[in-house]
Amino acid sequence: MIHIDGSQGEGGGQIVRSSLALSLVTGRPFTIHRVRARRRKPGLMRQHLTAVQAAMQVSSAHVQGAELGSTQLVFHPESVQSGEYAFRIGTAGSTTLVLQTVLPALMIADGVSSVTLEGGTHNPLAPPFEFLARTYLPLIARLGPQVPVTLHRPGFFPAGLGRISALIHPSPQLGRMELLERGARIGCKVRALVARLPRHIAQRECQTIARATGWDGSCFEVAEIADAPGPGNAVTIELQFEHVTEVFTGFGERGVRAETVAQRTLLQAEQYLATDVPVGEHLADQLLLPLGIGAHQGTGGGTFRTLPLSPHSLTHIQVLKEFLDVSIDVAFGPLGCQVRVEPAR
Ligand code: ATP
Repeated sequence: MIHIDGSQGEGGGQIVRSSLALSLVTGRPFTIHRVRARRRKPGLMRQHLTAVQAAMQVSSAHVQGAELGSTQLVFHPESVQSGEYAFRIGTAGSTTLVLQTVLPALMIADGVSSVTLEGGTHNPLAPPFEFLARTYLPLIARLGPQVPVTLHRPGFFPAGLGRISALIHPSPQLGRMELLERGARIGCKVRALVARLPRHIAQRECQTIARATGWDGSCFEVAEIADAPGPGNAVTIELQFEHVTEVFTGFGERGVRAETVAQRTLLQAEQYLATDVPVGEHLADQLLLPLGIGAHQGTGGGTFRTLPLSPHSLTHIQVLKEFLDVSIDVAFGPLGCQVRVEPAR
């Protein structure tokens, strides 16, 4: 039984989700105490609870503490079964984060799985659908598993009710990845999405970014969803390079002008462009898990270059080391750092 301290480092939801994902992959049971102790409202929130339930379903796990607000969780997985799954969060909690909990196990399982999720698809502080589809999953595909995803309906806070689905073609042994350079810039895409809000919000966001960058009109797309369950606005800037695509996201807020939302999003993209690392802060966080699993299997792992790691990523590394037989070295340099994930020496 692995004992995890939920208050370590960041003390947030990632410790719960990664423990679940790693328990499914290794078959090792765990208990976590002081769940999300460093958050304003500690314990399992709806999104984390759905992640627990999803992990239970795919592995017929025996679980204690799977309740809203629970600060203690005990999780004993049985064997992971591929198949057809549907998970409803019931709030605007992030569907992409719930998917990332069960994806690692299903992408190395014996058969194809299909997973449908309902909840938020464009949440601040979580990977938006475009990040999942354009940044994360193409890199997963390089390790072996092919995971096409579809956005059926966007879901924003507070209404939720968005829907995404994923078809998971597994690859039982993950391959390696070396992601040290971006390669040449090959394109960009700006997508401004409005749901039940005036179209001009999205148009002004695109115009603001177009004026500041001079990017060609063909890079811009306005998407208007009239019949969405609730209002929302997100703007994504996708920067495509030979070896990686990064997606930066801004969210419309009441009282914040569309131009400001666009400028804030562009600032994130400009900060990334001002460095030469291929892997941005969020991607670094999310690559650790699949590279760790591959290294644990002995077939994968690899190296990537990124910005100085966030406290979030450093916490994540601690959780990975609890479950996996791997070594993770972080070499800090003047222009960022290099992360190397290998089987334990
Ligand atoms: P808590 O509720 O405890 O804060 P949480 O479950 O909501 O936790 P975090 O522990 O903060 O979530 O983890 C959020 C995850 O979402 C991280 O992997 C982070 O890299 C990712 N993430 C956040 N914002 C973005 C973004 N704009 N693009 C891509 N990924 C993102």
